[in-house]
Amino acid sequence: MPIKALDPKVVARIAAGEVVDRPASVVKELVENSLDAGSSQISVEVKSGGVSLIKVTDNGSGIPSGEVGLAFDRYATSKVANLEDLESIRSLGFRGEALPSIAAVAQVDMVSCATDEKAGAYLSLIDGVISGQGSRGRSQGTTVTVSNLFRKIPARLKFLKSVATENSHIANVVSQYALAFPEVKFSLLIDSRVALRTPGSGRLIDGIAEVYGNDIAANMIELNADTTAPLPRVTGMVGSPKVSRSGRGYLSFFVNRRWVNSRMLAKAVEEAYHGLLMVGKHPVAVINISLPSQDVDVNIHPAKSEVKFRNDSAIFGAVQRAVRQVLTEQVTVPRIMAAATEPVFPTVLKETASLPYAGAATGLIPSAPTPAMSLPVLRVLGQLDNSYIIAEGPDGLYLIDQHAAHERILFEKIRQQRSQREVEVQGLLEPITFEVSPRQEAILKSRYQDLAEFGFTIEPFGDRTFLIRALPALIHDRDWAGMLRELLDSLSRGDKSDWAEGVTITMACHGAVRAGQSLADAEMRELLRQLEQCITPHTCPHGRPTMIHLSSSQLKKEFGRT
Ligand code: ADP
Ligand code: MG
Repeated sequence: MPIKALDPKVVARIAAGEVVDRPASVVKELVENSLDAGSSQISVEVKSGGVSLIKVTDNGSGIPSGEVGLAFDRYATSKVANLEDLESIRSLGFRGEALPSIAAVAQVDMVSCATDEKAGAYLSLIDGVISGQGSRGRSQGTTVTVSNLFRKIPARLKFLKSVATENSHIANVVSQYALAFPEVKFSLLIDSRVALRTPGSGRLIDGIAEVYGNDIAANMIELNADTTAPLPRVTGMVGSPKVSRSGRGYLSFFVNRRWVNSRMLAKAVEEAYHGLLMVGKHPVAVINISLPSQDVDVNIHPAKSEVKFRNDSAIFGAVQRAVRQVLTEQVTVPRIMAAATEPVFPTVLKETASLPYAGAATGLIPSAPTPAMSLPVLRVLGQLDNSYIIAEGPDGLYLIDQHAAHERILFEKIRQQRSQREVEVQGLLEPITFEVSPRQEAILKSRYQDLAEFGFTIEPFGDRTFLIRALPALIHDRDWAGMLRELLDSLSRGDKSDWAEGVTITMACHGAVRAGQSLADAEMRELLRQLEQCITPHTCPHGRPTMIHLSSSQLKKEFGRT
């Protein structure tokens, strides 16, 4: 459609703002214009961090010669015409703001040649005022040259970071759009040096190889590429956990191919990697979400870099599922700790035991028990009342409360696994829905991350309903739902460390073998062996004793033999 000044009613609805705060934002606006013009080749050239020169050349549709001047009028755009159009924006630009804003703070020259026109139109502006125009030969497309950015605004110039920093922001903008549009050939020249060149092959992996290098490209996994899948559709590639990074800078999100920042999306991806990455590591991901344009509001942020989804939780779930699915299917890397979780029970035990303490305590405990606290080696004599283990030590008789002792073992194990981010997780084949009260819901929502550290993968599903996708291995076959509710009710207050301690205690309690449960000899031996490894074996996490010791001299005294 032709470029037209927007109706003031439409202008009033636009989340206007200062779009040009640094050279990279000029690059972003110009590249977005080139993409909106359907270009298949876009080259960007910058000098001195973009301050002395930014030049963007494309082979897109061009601007009809009669409209070149209009393009620099404020709120003049060819992309939206009325209020309804704002409801479903399909182009990257829509405000008619960028060119006039850039022209107001720099010298701008534009040469553009539209389809079917013989010669290009030329327009030059200095600080927003036209200083020259005419026609100039060029092939179809547009070249915008921005020089002396912020020359008249020393305060803005002073605010800029070093040339290197501004260059890195510019390189990031071009890289992100190169990832979003792999079918477009991008090139970026920084101070006459080629910083990026993509082939425009249409294959995302080629773009990734150029932007992130071959090492990362070799370890990328493609998300379901079915282009007929229903919307919202999540496509792109994610890195195998082998190529994790120490920052979030390698997470790219596009919504209908618009580059966006979104903590929510970052979280969805990170949750999908739960249990697969080392502590402090972040994944690599290039993800596009396609959805009907009415389902996303792109008009909420001055730089258009944030969006608002109509249904946040549906998008969160879709992204998390898409990523999780390929990770579980394709990642052959064992879960962290897989080696240490080798069951230590003899095979015979595994058949009968419902005991959940499958993890070896050996090697898990950070420091050896201090002699004062440590347990001597105990020999199992039998079980009393299906609740107590009777054992003999070097100095008399021990009666061990099996539940309390197991609680202690699990408590230390959970605490240690969590501190090392090596919690054993049981993924569920089918997610289970979990309903909560409004109050529980509020608490649950504020505790996703805290619970994730314990191995719960929980995502919102609807009104007071959540989906449980993974559980701590320790309690997956227990009444975890009851446990979760108990947690949400009892642990609403307190800071994170109180909370974590509370969760650890509750999980240990629910995971531990009960009183009244009959144990085989080998199970009892294993329990005692693990208790011996504990740092604080004599009390359960609630502070109650795990055992009663009758020394040989006490026994003699009891029996009247001195
Ligand atoms: P917006 O992109 O929001 O419409 P801009 O100020 O960025 O506003 O651009 C104004 C208009 O100029 C656009 O609507 C478009 O018609 C035209 N235009 C700008 N850059 C280009 C380009 N590289 N190729 C074709 N047309 C362009
Ligand atoms: Mg624009």
